Amino acid sequence: MYKHRGLLIVLSGPSGVGKGTVRKELFSSPDTNYEYSISMTTRNPREGEVDGVDYFFRSREVFEQMIQEGKLLEYAEYVGNYYGTPLDYVNETLDAGRDVFLEIEVVGAAQVREKVPNGLFIFLAPPSLSDLETRLIGRGTEASDIIADRVLKAREELEMMHLYDYVVENDEVSKACDRVNAIVTAEHCRRERV
Ligand code: 5GP
Repeated sequence: MYKHRGLLIVLSGPSGVGKGTVRKELFSSPDTNYEYSISMTTRNPREGEVDGVDYFFRSREVFEQMIQEGKLLEYAEYVGNYYGTPLDYVNETLDAGRDVFLEIEVVGAAQVREKVPNGLFIFLAPPSLSDLETRLIGRGTEASDIIADRVLKAREELEMMHLYDYVVENDEVSKACDRVNAIVTAEHCRRERV
């Protein structure tokens, strides 16, 4: 087959929908044939998280320097911390003909859409809004006014669904992963057209 630049795959969706869980499940399979782009963040590592594996954990100063030097493909502030995608890794991997997978929130995904219009944009959706609310509440630790804020934000985020190429319902993690892989395969076949 023809040699192409790799495909940039973006998985996004509202907070609480389970993007991280789906991403981890995808990358736990030896059959997964795309590269995970490790994000940079200013938030503190959670227990068990490793710098350079889960995230590049950096100070606000370092992060802001990266922004100023144009070294991030996209970035967003989420619940008081910065999150962003280092540009060099994405470009080098795509140039080498490998697919790159980003798991990011919706503001960053909209920036990638602008910069890389031929990327593959997949929106992970909850089975219903009430299901999402239950999950946000289920996270447990936050006060009820913060939960209410997040539910409101999740509703806004759901309205961005129409900007995506595909919507994958996260009714069950393994099924959602199968759908993502099927979409990536189909997209490669579609793009084989000259
Ligand atoms: P967490 O702190 O739970 O790991 O992630 C919080 C949110 O940030 C999640 O919605 C996750 O998808 C998103 N996120 C992780 N990395 C990036 C990134 O590089 N850019 C953007 N825009 N969002 C990210």
